[in-house]
Amino acid sequence: MSTTGLATIPFNKAHIAENELNYLAEAVHQGFTSGNGPFTKRATGLLRKLTGSEQALLTTSCTHALEMSALLLDLQAGDEVIMPSFTFVSTANAFALRGAIPVFVDCRPDTLNIDERLIESAITDRTRAIVVVHYAGVGCAMEIISAVAERHGLALIEDNAHGLGASYGDRPLGSFGCMATQSFHATKNVQCGEGGALLLNEAGLATRAEIIREKGTNRSRFFRGQVDKYRWIEVGSNYMPSDLVAAQLTAQLESFDRIQMWRHAVWQRYHDELSSWAKENAVAQPVVPEGCLHTAHIYYLRLPDLENRQSFIGHLSRQGVQATSHYEPLHSAPAGLRYGRVASGCPVTEQVADRLVRLPLYADLDEADVARVIDAVLSYEVV
Ligand SMILES: *Cc1c(COP(=O)(O)O)cnc(C)c1O
Repeated sequence: MSTTGLATIPFNKAHIAENELNYLAEAVHQGFTSGNGPFTKRATGLLRKLTGSEQALLTTSCTHALEMSALLLDLQAGDEVIMPSFTFVSTANAFALRGAIPVFVDCRPDTLNIDERLIESAITDRTRAIVVVHYAGVGCAMEIISAVAERHGLALIEDNAHGLGASYGDRPLGSFGCMATQSFHATKNVQCGEGGALLLNEAGLATRAEIIREKGTNRSRFFRGQVDKYRWIEVGSNYMPSDLVAAQLTAQLESFDRIQMWRHAVWQRYHDELSSWAKENAVAQPVVPEGCLHTAHIYYLRLPDLENRQSFIGHLSRQGVQATSHYEPLHSAPAGLRYGRVASGCPVTEQVADRLVRLPLYADLDEADVARVIDAVLSYEVV
């Protein structure tokens, strides 16, 4: 309930890309609405260009792309997968579904990414993989994490749901792991409602990935004329998005540069215009280390404590600004306790989860509304 008399500024609003409705109509008219059609090929081509990935497969979600990665690794019950506690549930759920044990590691106090200094001590003889999440599209310390994975012969997977188009050093996020996953959920920078992708950066994964995505069959090879019948080859599922979804995604990916330019403009204004207030009120702003090109996926602030975070969200709401918290730690969630284990405590994660607030951030947030958000923030005094 806003006291300003103005419409509430929502936390997120999906951008409608220039050709989105045209391509959807085209997809309907061309009569190919199941998966792997003409728009799937177009969207996949755009995605490969954007990520530099040799092999990309569109999927029905990032959650499903993560499940595919767990199937591709042939994880067995009791295998361990190291990951941050400060992430979305799908990062852990995909591996727990295979009977693997998520091993939760704390995050860095600056970027909120997995703390690379804590990974090595979490490794046991059951560890099979490390999953990193580039929070807010800011790259994890990939040179260190890649070296740890290599030294111990572990698979490295990037949950790159926030990081499409970002880079770490001179390499795109999504190119460091043997596999990386993308999300095109309605809340992400580039969206098609529900959708995702699996990037494959290692030779030899593509054939099996295609089979797993097509219900465990070699149907894709059959349609390319490479086999004369398609058969059940291994366990898989249906992770194939409709070509309608791919049509929407094609238009979104074509608008990528514009979407990113608008989002970065909002992010940077928040960052500049809130900095004095943040310093005076002991509020932490996002940290982007040198060499990281981020995605402006999230603009977050960290208040000094839970009480201030809650009253700050209430204050913004009364000013007509919808702000939200973020991840509840996985290590202490009911399923985290049941299926996972914690490597060595997650005090930073617990603190961040209590204190973090995300401000509205989307491509179509106009300058007047950005100013309203900023004014609403500036009128809050930390107690
Ligand atoms: C959004 C998100 C997911 C899940 O994406 P879906 O496409 O909705 O399945 C997974 N991991 C992270 C870090 C996310 O932000």
